[in-house]
Amino acid sequence: MPSRRAEAKTDVKTFGGGKKPSERDSKICATCAKPFSWRKKWERDWANVRYCSDRCRAAAKG
Ligand SMILES: [Zn+2]
Repeated sequence: MPSRRAEAKTDVKTFGGGKKPSERDSKICATCAKPFSWRKKWERDWANVRYCSDRCRAAAKG
């Protein structure tokens, strides 16, 4: 009796891009100079993120 290969490995949804909180990247905010950590909402744009919040980003633009 042919058995199907177990190829349907369930993808476990991980928070933080599969990284543990301690392994997440962090940056220094260009406005308030405080460190901030990777956030889910930045997962596609992390390379371009320079500010810890919209407020700081707005402040930087003046
Ligand atoms: Zn800031």
